[in-house]
Parts: sequence; C-alpha cells; structure tokens
Amino acid sequence: MIKIREVQAKSILNKSKIHDYCLNPYTGCQVNCRYCYARLFMRRYSGHSEPWGAFVDVKVNAPELLRKQVVRAKKGTVWLSSVCDPYQPLEEKYRLTRQCLSILAEAGFPVNIQTKMTLILRDLDIIERFEEIEVGMTLTTDDERIARMFEPGASPVGERIAALETIHSRGIRTFAFVGPLLPGGPEGLICALAGRVDKVLVDRMNYLETVIGLYRELGLSEAATDQFFREQARRIAREAAKRGLPCEILF
Ligand code: SF4
Repeated sequence: MIKIREVQAKSILNKSKIHDYCLNPYTGCQVNCRYCYARLFMRRYSGHSEPWGAFVDVKVNAPELLRKQVVRAKKGTVWLSSVCDPYQPLEEKYRLTRQCLSILAEAGFPVNIQTKMTLILRDLDIIERFEEIEVGMTLTTDDERIARMFEPGASPVGERIAALETIHSRGIRTFAFVGPLLPGGPEGLICALAGRVDKVLVDRMNYLETVIGLYRELGLSEAATDQFFREQARRIAREAAKRGLPCEILF
C-alpha cells in the first residue's frame, strides 16, 4: 500500500550537476527499482519513515511554481527527473509533468526527459512543440523477467523500446540509458535499439549496497563484479559500432 500525500513544494526548478536544472514533480517513486540510488538518501531527506517505493508526495503546486520560476531563471536545460520517474502511474491522474512541460515549451527551455514508462506517449503533442528536446528510456536489460524483478513498477522492456520507436519516428531525438547494467544479453538489447535511438549511454551499478542481498538470493553475484561490467560494456560497444549507433560508456 503506497502512502500518497498532496503537498505544496517551495521550489520546483532546481540547480543540477548533470543538466542545468532538474525538475521533480513528485517526491518518491512508484517504479520502486531495487537498485535506485535515491532509496539511499531520499527517505531521510523527505522526512518519510516508510521504505522507498511506499510513499509519494505529489507536488500539486508544481505548475504554479514553475510559471513563476521560469520568468526569473536563466535559460538552461531542464532534466525530468533526477529522483523520481516523471511518468510514474500517478502522473496519469495529476498531469503535473504534462503541465510543467507545456510551461517549459512556452518559455523556450530545452528539456531532457528520462523515464521507464510508456505514459510519456500521452504527451507527444507537447514534446513536439520543443525546439530542443531529448527523450530517453532507461533500459537495464533485455530480459523481461530480470527487469520485472529489479524494476517492478516499470513498463515492460519491449513496450519501452516500442515507445522509443514511436517518438523517434516523429523526428524527436531519442536515447537509451543502459544502466545500471543488469544480467541479460546486451547484443539483443542493442540490436532492438538500433534505428530507434540516436545514442546509447552505458553505466555500471555504482551503488551495489542496494541490491547485493537480492543478487545473492538469485545467485547473480557474479553480475556485481567489475569484470562483469567491463565485459558487458565491451560487448555493447562492439555491437553498437557494428550497427553505427553512437555509444558512450560512462565508467
Ligand atoms: S524510476 Fe528512477 S527514481 Fe524511480 S525508483 Fe527507479 S531508479 Fe529510482
């Protein structure tokens, strides 16, 4: 049972080290990835006693705040989102990401969206209005069973790839964030992504403490070694080169 609260945020467009700004319409995430780095610090930061994945604060005043903040803020790329999935199921009802995107499009801010949810397709009409936008799906494995275990609330892998195809076919820049690398056949994943994304970014698991118990339970401990990450990355880079797909290994 997820505890859902409607809250009034104090700020919504915040400085980020990865892009110029990050925008999180929710605190908490229903996708509940076992490896989520946010579970390491967000409970403390948000003052929640429930485990990560068991609470979501809905920042119902996000559009109203953003409308004020974009007037004063220097133009820069906005990342949706850094510590939640902007298209988690609650977004269907609250439409906060949708409203914020619309404000950013009007204000001329470039946007980088990263999600694991096909609900993003609902907002293609707004996404198409941007002059500068990149849309990415996180894909950690081509194995649906492993994905369900580690990303229980995410859209199925095949549906995420199909969504990328739809978005890419509208002339919008797309990317796949392949990380953290989970067990699976990396060649199959790259083969499925070729022609559907403009680039692939690959990362290892940098916060192993969140999944080490589950890995042990599932007999997957060898997938948590430096050697595993190096080998998977090498296979991805080789397959991507074969298909002419730009690929960046981030570790
Ligand atoms: S979708 Fe992102 S923020 Fe949400 S639980 Fe997964 S890794 Fe964490």
